[in-house]
Amino acid sequence: MVSPRFDPRPQPTLNRAKALCLSCRSCFKRDRSNEGYVCPSCGEEAVDIGSAFKAPRRDAQKQWALVLFLARNGYRYRKLGGPAPKNMAEARRRLALSGRPIIE
Ligand SMILES: [Zn+2]
Repeated sequence: MVSPRFDPRPQPTLNRAKALCLSCRSCFKRDRSNEGYVCPSCGEEAVDIGSAFKAPRRDAQKQWALVLFLARNGYRYRKLGGPAPKNMAEARRRLALSGRPIIE
């Protein structure tokens, strides 16, 4: 039996998505949508980054490279997902588990 806290159905209290722009790194919240998100700052595509995402400092280049790599590959920062990968090697290992090709 599956624990109810892993229920994948939409929850009424979780209808806001945290989105991250892959171009300018703006982070913003929107009502959840299946059609994706558009950055309010630059108009480029933004992705659902997960509610547990905390943006690194703007000058933290290594951390941003890791965040953007994970975001491009569909990783979501979730409160129940355990600790996020801390470096590129760990990120690659985790993404490889999905079986999808990795987007560099
Ligand atoms: Zn943007």
